[in-house]
Amino acid sequence: MKPIRCCVACKSRKNKEEFFRIVADKNNNAIIDKNQNINTRGIYVCKNKQCITNLEKIILKNRMKLKINVENESMLEVLRELGEEIWEN
Ligand SMILES: [Zn+2]
Repeated sequence: MKPIRCCVACKSRKNKEEFFRIVADKNNNAIIDKNQNINTRGIYVCKNKQCITNLEKIILKNRMKLKINVENESMLEVLRELGEEIWEN
């Protein structure tokens, strides 16, 4: 069975390959785990503009404690990057 994960923005559950995975590096900077194989705790977000935008808002309002310990600024940077990636496709 494929591992099922949950989007941090909309809470929908899907196979993990259907999400972007974001992890924290040693310096608490958010990075995109493109191959989903970095062995650390990660969060998942749907590959759509809406969830990425919603996650941005959640972070800006500090409404949610993320399961990973990252600097907000680096997290927002990663989300901008992901947003652009979607926009291009
Ligand atoms: Zn979602």
